[in-house]
This record gives sequence, structure tokens and C-alpha cells, in this order.
Amino acid sequence: MKIGILAYQGSFEEHALQLKRAMIKLNVSGDILPVKKTGDLKQVDGLIIPGGESTTIGIIAQKLGVLDDLKSKITEGTPVLGTCAGAIMLAKDVTDAKVSKKSQPLIGEMNIQVIRNYYGRQRESFEATLDFSVIGGGKGRVVFIRAPAIVKTWGEAKSLITLQGVTVMAEERNMIATTFHPELSNTTIVHEYFLDHVKR
Ligand code: GLN
Repeated sequence: MKIGILAYQGSFEEHALQLKRAMIKLNVSGDILPVKKTGDLKQVDGLIIPGGESTTIGIIAQKLGVLDDLKSKITEGTPVLGTCAGAIMLAKDVTDAKVSKKSQPLIGEMNIQVIRNYYGRQRESFEATLDFSVIGGGKGRVVFIRAPAIVKTWGEAKSLITLQGVTVMAEERNMIATTFHPELSNTTIVHEYFLDHVKR
């Protein structure tokens, strides 16, 4: 299998490392490649959209003409894991906790409502322990960095994991969204869960 990581910005290396660890655990082999252009996208069986700044990621993808191809790749059923800014990119409905109505280029395929910067500014970033039993894991420590919140899911989208009543991980068909950074964690369970989707 070939797993692509959208590589305009954000934690490519950390995701690649965590993927490798998950591959070893599941005893699967695969290549990990950076995705920047449509040609890269065509080759992959699964895609990770990392954190960063969703506005920046969206604008770059649009300028390079990759945004529409990302949409089609995902509607075709390619498994995708969007983390933090990546979750924002996937959402159909995005608002900002501070800035009132400002539109940004999105993939916009997932039936979730997301509020950007829900927990506050950079210095309000925090660590938390999550219970990953619904996806076959145990407890894991994860980081929230200027994180968004998934405040609503509808249609086929469902909330998988919550923290203090707020959804931090959701899924809909081939799409998985986390508001935290699973690549910065002592558990590889989210990457394992994503790889399970790719294997199917
Ligand atoms: N606050 C960023 C945004 O709105 C997301 C932060 C992150 O990906 N760590 O795009």
C-alpha cells in the first residue's frame, strides 16, 4: 500500500514515523510519500491531512489546483485521516471562535460542524488522556494545539470519542477526523485504525 501525507505544511515527519510504528504493529508493509501535486495524489491508497493552519493549507491546495482532486479522491472512497487543521479541511461547516464569518477553501465532504480555535490561543494548548476503546485501543495521551472542536455531526458522520462532552474524533465512511494530534502521542492506535481502513 501507498500512504500519502499532504505536505504543504505541518507535521509530515511525525505522521510518517507514527505510520511506520503502526505498520510494524500491524505487520503490514507500505510506502509513505509526500503529496503536493495531483500526480502524487493519484498514486496513493490512503491519505493523511496533517495539522497546521487550515487557511494556508486550503489556499495552497487551491492555487496548485489540487483542492478539487482532493475532493474527488475522497468521494471515490479513498481512506483519509484529517488531524486538527486536516479535520477542518474535511468539514462541511466551519466557523471560527473569534473571527466572524470568513470563508476559506475547504475539501468540505464530511458532515461535521467544526469551530476553529475552540479552546483558545496557542498558549491554551493542552495535553489530555483519551479512552480509545471504541477503536480497539486503551488509554492514550494526546496533544491539542490551537485545536478546533467538532460540535455537530449529522447524516452518516458519527462521533467516536469525546473529551468533556465535545467530540474529538469522528468518522464518516472513509473519512476520519481528529481535533488532536495523534502523531504526537504515546499510542499509535489512530494510525492503526486508519491503516485498517486502507487495508479493507
Ligand atoms: N488553529 C488551526 C486552524 O484553525 C489548527 C491548529 C492545528 O492544526 N494544530 O487551522
